[in-house]
Amino acid sequence: AKKQGGNQVIVYNEEINKVTKEKLVIEASLRKAIEQGDVEVYYQPKINASENVITGVEALLRWTDRELGFVSPEVFISVAEETGLIHSLWELAMKQACSQVSEWNKNRLQPLQLAVNFSAKQFLDPASIVKRVKEILSDCQLAPEHFEIEITESTLLYNLEETIKALKEMQEYGISIAIDDFGTGYSSLSYLKTLPIDCLKIDRSFIQDITEDYSQSEIAEAIINLTRSLKLKVIAEGVEEEYQKEFLLKNECDHMQGYLFSKPLCKTDLEQYLRENDLK
Ligand code: C2E
Ligand code: CA
Ligand code: CA
Ligand code: CA
Repeated sequence: AKKQGGNQVIVYNEEINKVTKEKLVIEASLRKAIEQGDVEVYYQPKINASENVITGVEALLRWTDRELGFVSPEVFISVAEETGLIHSLWELAMKQACSQVSEWNKNRLQPLQLAVNFSAKQFLDPASIVKRVKEILSDCQLAPEHFEIEITESTLLYNLEETIKALKEMQEYGISIAIDDFGTGYSSLSYLKTLPIDCLKIDRSFIQDITEDYSQSEIAEAIINLTRSLKLKVIAEGVEEEYQKEFLLKNECDHMQGYLFSKPLCKTDLEQYLRENDLK
């Protein structure tokens, strides 16, 4: 039995070693990719499906490494959060996306709203993030009204008071605050009354629950009703099927995002999408 236990320990250590090694490889390659400009922002359209207009885009990072190939954002964002690289990634995403959307908005009657994902780590120093956001918006000449930050409930776990202060300051400046992946967090809902929030994004899993006969749609419906009584905006993410769109429209959730409309697109493809789908 002793021997067996010994073997198990060895196997376990090897697993850890493998995972650690992979992370180290990803970290080193990601660092290089950031320096060489190999990390790029893609844009996924957000739609008002009742008016049939494109209201904005969400910035999503993409990285295809020369050796590793395509690395999923879920993977490299989590490595970046552990290693501190998330700060350079954030700068990169902000500068690229803000200047791009500002450029697009020059030629549009109805400006696009840009949403950028903020990791909880971005709020380790809440005061300086606010300052930096204001600087970048002003450098890129993007109006705060055309900018939204997406945070998850995990952002509220640390530094709560200072984070609230920072969010308030951004909201007063004109920036919108959206709670991403709403419904998947573990915190109580009481923060919805005290926090400066403009919008809830219904998590993709609840949209995927909406089947053709609408039998599993209770949670999506409950979240929509919640936003109505709290007077918050609501958007559904991960809309893939026509019947999900119909269900959401029936429940007066007009704002949607998902493969039914478009996948995240590179700059050139998004420009083509705007030309083909946008009559404004
Ligand atoms: P997220 O913020 O929840 O982004 C939505 C994810 O759902 C994106 O995955 C998007 O491509 C995907 N998606 C959109 N529509 C559909 C659909 O109809 N069906 C399905 N199955 N998926 C859909 P992506 O781009 O792989 O990003 C994954 C996560 O990585 C993001 O989740 C976000 O948490 C993180 N991420 C991506 N870019 C950034 C960034 O710039 N900063 C930070 N902090 N996180 C980022
Ligand atoms: Ca998001
Ligand atoms: Ca989400
Ligand atoms: Ca997510």
